[in-house]
Amino acid sequence: MTDIIVIGGGIAGTSVAARLAPHASVTLLEAENVLAYHASGRSAALYESNYGLDTTVALSKASADYFHQSGLLSDRGLLIAARANEREQFEADTAMLKLELISPADALAMIPILDGAQVAHASHHAGAWDIDTDRMVQDFARELRTHGGRLQTKSRVVSITGGAGAWAVHTEAATYEAAIIVNAAGAWVDELAKLAGVTPLGFTPLRRSMVRIPAPGGHDVSKWPMFFGVGESWYAKPDAGSLIVSPAEEHPMPPMDAWADDMVLAEGLARYEALVTEPVTRIEANWAGLRTFSPDRHLTVGFDVHTDGFFWHAGQGGYGFQTAPAASQLAADLILGRAPEMDAGTVSALSPERFA
Ligand SMILES: Cc1cc2nc3c(=O)[nH]c(=O)nc-3n(C[C@H](O)[C@H](O)[C@H](O)COP(=O)(O)OP(=O)(O)OC[C@H]3O[C@@H](n4cnc5c(N)ncnc54)[C@H](O)[C@@H]3O)c2cc1C
Repeated sequence: MTDIIVIGGGIAGTSVAARLAPHASVTLLEAENVLAYHASGRSAALYESNYGLDTTVALSKASADYFHQSGLLSDRGLLIAARANEREQFEADTAMLKLELISPADALAMIPILDGAQVAHASHHAGAWDIDTDRMVQDFARELRTHGGRLQTKSRVVSITGGAGAWAVHTEAATYEAAIIVNAAGAWVDELAKLAGVTPLGFTPLRRSMVRIPAPGGHDVSKWPMFFGVGESWYAKPDAGSLIVSPAEEHPMPPMDAWADDMVLAEGLARYEALVTEPVTRIEANWAGLRTFSPDRHLTVGFDVHTDGFFWHAGQGGYGFQTAPAASQLAADLILGRAPEMDAGTVSALSPERFA
């Protein structure tokens, strides 16, 4: 019998399984053939520690040492560009992300396709980084295996019986027994809870789409910062010599293998094109992923209030990578009964007790 079964092989499940493995016998079950097939394979891969609610910022900042010591980060920077009539939202975004005001000319020097006739306000900081997300997932998977943990792909959990201390988790091919279940099933966390007879907490998967376009105007985009329209109405980011552009939509969806909506992409690209001089002439690829949020949009990390031995590691929203080092540490501390390193206020704001 395993001590702990972690269900879900995205960044959330892989990181928490890795943290637990040195201290317990751990099995990670993932439905797909590979790790990180869903949201974790479709992100923008940014580490911007001022982005999100206060608890998200706390987790992201507590993850800084891990990121900076891991070699997973490379320089990117972040820039917001706005028209004259967008000043109020521009100032709010700039304050939230703690960016520095720069002149439109400075913004154009960094991103030469910005339209000088449109951009009236700009802000920037260098303190945002690209995360090597593939390597991050693989690093955690290696850590799990190194400590004797089991990692089973192609293992969709179809039913769960038993209870705390003696859970039986059934896939089509096998049954796994454990004292504790960790629910890290991304968009499926509420569905998975139902399988175990646990009351769902009301998570909503929100689709966000992305297109990859050739480097605009043939520019070398590699050193451009990620750039946003105000109110996160679109963003663009260099990616392997091309540019990825997102309409930044938040459309509620059932849990599924999400795909991009053509109309949403077209509208998002139009918002991007309105601020740049190079029209989009070709799309290289498009995709979408589900960013899954709890009802109050804070992550949910903690044992279920009504069902012993059932742990939620859920609602990573748009921050699953940048919060993962600290969130997985917190989850492991709580599961192993250790005093959490995170401050008590954040721990309680993330607890499922807030929904009881
Ligand atoms: C377009 C986009 C941009 C983003 N940009 C960023 C960013 O810049 N920075 C950042 O930090 N975050 C970003 N995110 C968010 C980040 O990708 C997510 O928060 C994170 O990937 C969620 O990880 P997860 O492990 O919870 O979910 P997932 O990666 O979806 O993993 C859940 C896994 O559970 C498995 N599963 C479900 N049900 C079962 C079952 N019954 N049995 C077995 N396995 C099951 C699924 O197959 C899936 O692999 C972005 C997301 C999107 C979509």
